[in-house]
Amino acid sequence: MASSERSPAELPDDAGGDPACWMHRVCDECGRLADEDPPTRCPSCGKHLEAI
Ligand SMILES: [Zn+2]
Repeated sequence: MASSERSPAELPDDAGGDPACWMHRVCDECGRLADEDPPTRCPSCGKHLEAI
């Protein structure tokens, strides 16, 4: 019954994600978002982003 119902309200969360989960990718130096999860380097300024 309930399994046949899909709540449209849940879709935006799945598509956009939670902004908080991106915070560890943000470069401290220039504020750019890295292309991948740390550990990696900032694609803009080259700062090393540490894994949390
Ligand atoms: Zn940077």
